Amino acid sequence: MVRRTAAVWAGKATGALSRLSGRGGGTTLPGDVARAIDPTVLRKLTGDLTQGSMVITGTNGKTTTARLLATMLEGAGLRVVSNRSGANLIFGATAAALRSAGPDGRLRADWGVFEIDEASLPKAIDEIQPKAVVVLNLFRDQLDRYGELEKIARTMERALGNLPEGGRAVLNSDDPRVAEIGLGLERKPLWFGLQDTSVASKHLPHAADARTCPRCGASLKFTAVYLGHDGVYSCPNGDFARPAPSVAATEITLNGFDSLEMTVAGTPVRLPVGGLYNAYNALAAFAAGDVIGLDRDFMAGRMHDFKAAFGRQERLDFRGRHLVLVLSKNPAGFNETLRTAVDLAGGSYFVLGLNDRKADGTDVSWIWDVDFEQLAGKSVVVIPAGGRANDMAVRLKYAGVDASAPQTDPGRALDQLVASTPEGATVHLLCTYTAMLDIRAELVRRGWAKPYWET
Ligand SMILES: [Zn+2]
Repeated sequence: MVRRTAAVWAGKATGALSRLSGRGGGTTLPGDVARAIDPTVLRKLTGDLTQGSMVITGTNGKTTTARLLATMLEGAGLRVVSNRSGANLIFGATAAALRSAGPDGRLRADWGVFEIDEASLPKAIDEIQPKAVVVLNLFRDQLDRYGELEKIARTMERALGNLPEGGRAVLNSDDPRVAEIGLGLERKPLWFGLQDTSVASKHLPHAADARTCPRCGASLKFTAVYLGHDGVYSCPNGDFARPAPSVAATEITLNGFDSLEMTVAGTPVRLPVGGLYNAYNALAAFAAGDVIGLDRDFMAGRMHDFKAAFGRQERLDFRGRHLVLVLSKNPAGFNETLRTAVDLAGGSYFVLGLNDRKADGTDVSWIWDVDFEQLAGKSVVVIPAGGRANDMAVRLKYAGVDASAPQTDPGRALDQLVASTPEGATVHLLCTYTAMLDIRAELVRRGWAKPYWET
């Protein structure tokens, strides 16, 4: 107990200092410090939760799904601990638990909702002992170009095999890689998936990266493609197919980035965020809510009042322009946010921000897998931005897009935006993680936005 209390105090002090010094929201460092003093501090703290924990993992959509679940639980009057601000390593989860712990080192809350990166899943399941683990998708990330994903899939399968008694895997049936993991599990997972081919396309985007059957290596046959390699698929040799989802979304209507409507198991759901990827996020939250026994009408009501997390789909005004900030961090994600901005939201003004720091992926060649050709031949303003704006400009040139001069400085990118868009314009800023942070920090500096840890 002494050690745990010391760990909690040291972690809390680190968080306070880091906030005071303006070095961000103190989202992971406190976890680092506390775990150095007591490596079992997260296990002990989550053990105090009166109801239990849920873990959300996958390449895209973790933050939004976790936030949806937290919103639903808080709406039921429950006290929720969650690692917001995208600090999704095990240290971020620890830091979140520390923030909510009292001076006696005890965590006084009902639920933990933790977003965890795929590689940390074994540790998270072991320490947190979750009641539900949601796996959203497994796309090749910007960090993985050399088959790492196969290894991660195996690791995740083993981790999900170690779920505690009563723990349930909640898996995306539309993702062939996730399905492969789930079909190997002894305890049957709960499958969720889309069931509305009116929002599907017939062809895989060229960034799709799981086209082959995990059993025999044949090319999977897709009758519908929803997002990246997620869709309705089967192997022509009959040894692998999409599992039938028991929690399915039908009657999906997408209204750009503004909203979406769908029916989940007979319950109409409306969200004030758009994009097909958010249909998946909401469906996943719904399925996890089912596992822990939340009422479906209640969940639908809470989703109606949902507010998106920082950078996921944030709206800000800047000198008479309406900015829509959308995190776009890998080929599958970027293709979908671009498609939503161009086709569904009718966007004409874009800032495409590319950085190459650790959180973005230091190898930026993945932008060659994004279909920027979607912008070619259209009357649009496109500003390449971020530390690797020049690489983005080259990529756009090859896509046949007539882009503005690249702007590596975030302040200059914003000035360029004002210079090249009319007042009242809606500008979509599609950016990698730290490129988004940089532009946002510049907006904060100029007084147009609040620091993200205050939102
Ligand atoms: Zn096969």
